[in-house]
Amino acid sequence: QKQILLADRPSGKPTAETFQYAEVPVPTPEEGQVLIRTLYLSVDPYMRGRMNEGKSYVAPFQLNEPISGGVVGEVVDSKGSKLKQGDIIIGNLPWQEYSVAGEKEVRQIDPSIAPISAYLGILGMPGLTAYFGLLDIGKPKEGETVVVSGAAGAVGSAVGQIAKIKGARVVGIAGSDEKIKYLIDELGFDAAINYKTEDVGKALAEACPNGVDVYYDNVGGEISEAVHKRLNKFARIPVCGAISTYNSDGADLGPRIETTLIKSSVLMQGFVVGDFSSRFSEGARELAGWLQEGKLKYEETIVEGFEKIPQAFLGLFEGTNLGKQLVKIAEP
Ligand code: NDP
Repeated sequence: QKQILLADRPSGKPTAETFQYAEVPVPTPEEGQVLIRTLYLSVDPYMRGRMNEGKSYVAPFQLNEPISGGVVGEVVDSKGSKLKQGDIIIGNLPWQEYSVAGEKEVRQIDPSIAPISAYLGILGMPGLTAYFGLLDIGKPKEGETVVVSGAAGAVGSAVGQIAKIKGARVVGIAGSDEKIKYLIDELGFDAAINYKTEDVGKALAEACPNGVDVYYDNVGGEISEAVHKRLNKFARIPVCGAISTYNSDGADLGPRIETTLIKSSVLMQGFVVGDFSSRFSEGARELAGWLQEGKLKYEETIVEGFEKIPQAFLGLFEGTNLGKQLVKIAEP
């Protein structure tokens, strides 16, 4: 079976040399373990941070060891007491076609609630990130204006829709006309801005005549700088990600303390989704409910084949994905 190792710590943008393919035997499960066949594998922006040497909020990947991340797979052999052959599970597993895990290290998922791939997106880590970051930190009120950057991605598209459910006016920022059209026509955003073709500051002034009450920040950098200039008194900024800086070695751009934060009494709070782990079941239940009521939609960009994993990962930094980027490795 195939696996992918971290061959080199990239400086700047990762390249083909960052990844190394290897051929290894399919492992055999021991007592308490299961053998899992990888079906869908998630590529996520945070993995870029794990390719660096120092610890960010997750420990770094080790050189010449398999890269790992969110996987939905099927149990094909079980030496456990709970999981049996045919069960579908989610776990943090290596980039391999097959892997072995303790049955307590993975979680069984219910394919009757939603397609199994959704557990890596809207019903999984990105959906929960949107839910807790927006509602617990952003706290949008009815009639307020919420701006979200990275709006057409896995997290951002959920943020905008949850803000609409809560009665806010929603403005998205994304990187193509196709994405802008999707946000307005399919997801019901009130306005959307293409940061690659428009002057973001000017477009924001038009799209947010009453200013910005919540800025859900997925990207950092110049886009955030432009939004910071339009914040209302007591605005909230959930700082979720800063993808525009992940491939640069320079310092982050930050908010202007006096003119952004003090002047308008702005609350800015970084977070990681794990901060809310004790409430994941609440978040998952709410998201599944909205999904079943048709209030929440989601999109997936799925490439097929183990050899497409690096390309899918690198595409996140080019914006080739609409919604959640996944790699399909095998048929269930
Ligand atoms: P997305 O599905 O949003 O994919 C990344 C998107 O980022 C791309 O589609 C692209 O869209 C956009 N992008 C890429 N480069 C840039 C750039 N230089 N400037 C602006 N936009 C850019 O990924 P996720 O939804 O999984 O993650 C979104 C953000 O949330 C990331 O920053 C991630 O690190 C963060 N995150 C944080 C978590 C936490 O616990 N705090 C958990 C999960 C995610 P476009 O075409 O619009 O440029």
